[in-house]
Amino acid sequence: MKENHVVWDDRFVKRSERNRLNNHKSGLVWLTGLSASGKSTIAHLVERELFRKGIHTYVLDGDNVRHGINSNLGFGREDRKENLRRIVELSKLLIDAGMVVLAAFISPYHEDRAYIRKQLEGDNFIEVYVKCPVEECEQRDPKGQYQKARAGIIKEYTGVSSPYEEPENPDLVLDTEKDDIETSVRHVLEILEKRNFIEL
Ligand code: ADP
Repeated sequence: MKENHVVWDDRFVKRSERNRLNNHKSGLVWLTGLSASGKSTIAHLVERELFRKGIHTYVLDGDNVRHGINSNLGFGREDRKENLRRIVELSKLLIDAGMVVLAAFISPYHEDRAYIRKQLEGDNFIEVYVKCPVEECEQRDPKGQYQKARAGIIKEYTGVSSPYEEPENPDLVLDTEKDDIETSVRHVLEILEKRNFIEL
């Protein structure tokens, strides 16, 4: 680790001041689950609903992260770890800036999710398991990726050729095989309300 002499300067506006100005808390809602389970769809609809209520919110997902800040990373074990480390750091900055961050990432490993939780320890953090059997995800296959993974064109694809370790103790489970999209969105809004992030 390189030595650095950067110190956090608290002459600047504090998170608590931003939260007071915004009239809501900031924090992180982490959606984990297989590809095509519905993470991104649900995150964006929750974002739209929060935005409508005047809540400062932002979705982080593969599309805006893997194409930008993490464009140099692949899908091997080490790169997946680094991918998440950067997302967590990015989330911390957005939380400090007063946002309710909705992060939609497969995040298939216990170890990585435990790391995320630990990084946010004592802070507003909600782990949401977006649960859907791989067979149903494969049927949806909105980007045709399962088909490519089955054909061996995409390697190390979660659920096909790479493991997904189910969360043992998530704050919320969304069953997207059984429930429609609107129900899942409602459940996320309800837990945000219960944890006093927002007033519905
Ligand atoms: P992920 O972000 O988990 O990869 P996406 O949200 O990109 O998943 O894709 C999920 C797809 O499944 C979308 O096309 C969505 O419309 C569809 N879908 C069908 N039924 C549901 C449901 N009950 N909940 C969430 N998504 C659903």
